[in-house]
Amino acid sequence: MSTVKEFLSEQDELAIIEAIKKAELNTSGEIRVHIEASSKKETYQRALEVFEGLKMYNTQQRNGVLLYIATEDHKFVICGDKGIDDVVADDFWDCTRDTIATYFKEGNFKDGIIAGILNAGEQLKKYFPYQADDTDELSNEISKG
Ligand code: CA
Ligand code: CA
Repeated sequence: MSTVKEFLSEQDELAIIEAIKKAELNTSGEIRVHIEASSKKETYQRALEVFEGLKMYNTQQRNGVLLYIATEDHKFVICGDKGIDDVVADDFWDCTRDTIATYFKEGNFKDGIIAGILNAGEQLKKYFPYQADDTDELSNEISKG
């Protein structure tokens, strides 16, 4: 992978934001993407820290989902909030993770992120269906470290 700036074009970012909007029409879950170059911390720990930093626990059903990517570390993690962990099986994110990994291995980052987001939306639909009075509880903008 490459530096954060080279990682995605402006067009790619817009396509990712559109994917988040689309996924959030399937589920009340709120999906965010955070991209940074590198972290000295263990990837999952760092993802949890970013989750807190972005105040992603600020959802009514505690169903925020973060896709954390460290471009230079060649690492990514998906983590969901407490409300999700309480109701799904331990391997819930495996399918989303594998989908993303398949694209990333080919160097196709934009499509990997989009596929992961749409997959997460589909997965969450069963447990957290879209509500008629849904609001956009967490920003769809990509967060950059
Ligand atoms: Ca929402
Ligand atoms: Ca959102």
